[in-house]
Amino acid sequence: MPIPSVPGDPAGTSEAGQARPATIVVVGSANADLLARADVHPAPGETVLGRDLAVLPGGKGANQAVAAARLGAAVAFVGAVGDDEFADAATSGLRDAGVGLEALSSAGGSTGIAVVTVAADGENSIVVIPGANATVDAALVRRHAGLVGGAAVVVVQGEIPRDGIEEAARLAAGRLVVNLAPVIPVDLTVLRRADPLVVNEHEALAAWGLLDRDVDGDVDGEVDGESGARAGAAGAPEAEIVVRLRALGVPSVVLTLGARGALVGLGDDVVHVPSPRVEAVDTTGAGDAFVGALACALAGGAGLVDAARFAARVGAFAVRGSGAQPSYPWEVDDLP
Ligand code: ADP
Repeated sequence: MPIPSVPGDPAGTSEAGQARPATIVVVGSANADLLARADVHPAPGETVLGRDLAVLPGGKGANQAVAAARLGAAVAFVGAVGDDEFADAATSGLRDAGVGLEALSSAGGSTGIAVVTVAADGENSIVVIPGANATVDAALVRRHAGLVGGAAVVVVQGEIPRDGIEEAARLAAGRLVVNLAPVIPVDLTVLRRADPLVVNEHEALAAWGLLDRDVDGDVDGEVDGESGARAGAAGAPEAEIVVRLRALGVPSVVLTLGARGALVGLGDDVVHVPSPRVEAVDTTGAGDAFVGALACALAGGAGLVDAARFAARVGAFAVRGSGAQPSYPWEVDDLP
């Protein structure tokens, strides 16, 4: 399987990456993930003794930027952290991967935090505090208009305020990758510029229902997550959802299917891209690895189907290790 060429010089990504002009700009969230392992989850009002605690870099935006940069792309990150002790943890992965942080703002208050409890059965429970991510709004994005406008590929997700996403989409002169995760209300013009819209099965249903309702004239150019999920949950097969999203004005769609890989909807075709078979240890952050790798390949000039094939290999690599960023590859030669 051919590996799409990636932009930039992989050997220069650690320190030199900061100095190169970014070809990929990720506008999104950065979190510190506080990961507590315990035998069981505490019931409401109960205290249980845990096994250990890890503080790891996370947040969908940061994960995606790290995935792309580790694969050799020149990446810059537009986002925000607080002025607390978690800011370092949230950005350590970005720094190690050589992601440009000149557009990282330091807001007062707390860094975005995910408090994750993992029980012995592998089940997670998570509390997310957006913190500084809530300041990544239109005004903040506009301060970096030149960076966003000059990128070959701009990547956004759903963990920052909608007006931040909308402004990034408006400023993007290059290719716009929209990972609508989680599904939040956004102006439909964002989805109609998404090339591709990347969603998992649940998110695809939500996005489809919303666009469909808009075409019927029931909503005012807005996407509303929960009602969209209800409207779309009519049980259409996955390929049909892709076709419908395309028919409703989304330029291209990538629907990720976990171990089954992904569907790519482009032109009149829906192409199935399989994922390599691997032994899955932890699927946390696989979708973000996929999106970062997809952006990397697109920025390197790959077509969407080839880019998705590459991204599926990177997603499969990521499920073989624990955590999100710690499980991402540094070398294309290591991919399954
Ligand atoms: P999300 O984490 O957003 O729900 P998916 O679970 O669809 O996204 O995973 C994203 C990609 O990661 C998939 O398209 C696939 O390439 C890869 N992947 C996920 N789970 C597995 C698995 N068990 N085996 C192989 N590849 C996987």
